[in-house]
Amino acid sequence: MSKLLTYRLFSRDNIKVFSTTRAIGSTKTDGKLKWKNLEKAMKLNNLEPANLVFPEQVHGNKIEFIKNATRKIIPKKDGLVTKNKNIFLGVVTADCAPIVFYSSKNKMIGVFHAGYKGILSGILNEAVKIFKADGESLQEVKVLVGPSIGLCCYEVGKKIIDEFSKNFLNIEKFYSKKEDKYFLDLKFIIKEILLAAGISGKNMEFSAICTKDNSSFLYSARKSKNKRYGEFATIVGMI
Ligand SMILES: [Zn+2]
Repeated sequence: MSKLLTYRLFSRDNIKVFSTTRAIGSTKTDGKLKWKNLEKAMKLNNLEPANLVFPEQVHGNKIEFIKNATRKIIPKKDGLVTKNKNIFLGVVTADCAPIVFYSSKNKMIGVFHAGYKGILSGILNEAVKIFKADGESLQEVKVLVGPSIGLCCYEVGKKIIDEFSKNFLNIEKFYSKKEDKYFLDLKFIIKEILLAAGISGKNMEFSAICTKDNSSFLYSARKSKNKRYGEFATIVGMI
């Protein structure tokens, strides 16, 4: 079993993007980043662990521009962007979606944490806004949506479906109903929002992995019965 997941979307770019797995160990437990395991993952790629920065992740829509790696955790943010080489930005997830943006034209990367709450609060449109700020046409922007909980497993209450229907049209495509249970299609929702915002479909990659079905390989909050679940990291940096 490989220790790191890599993505073909960026194979020809001068950026490094990977996710950790259970073989590396949890990268966040009980709200605390596990630096030993993060270091392990960075060293496997011959990268400097001291250059890592993470947002605190509060299921909001705030993003910060990062210019150096002196602060390791950026409070109250769910996304980070940088134009600096060799700064590595990460998010940790266990069912929510880790999302990476890269503009080859502007030489800018971003990483975002998006669960249903973050999506409802507009994190994806905030991310697009930052990438558009320099007059970017979005033509060059690539977006990776990493492993997250699939439609197969993401049972939610009717209240959440109602929340989405208040905010989006064609809500009937966003979920499925089996008997009296509702299942949300997080990846489909993310794709629709990004397409509507102007990101090209051919520049997107969606991991097919459902975290709950693959919790022996990754981590899933839904799958773990007790509250002390681990999380895996998705990390990006320009090299
Ligand atoms: Zn599943």
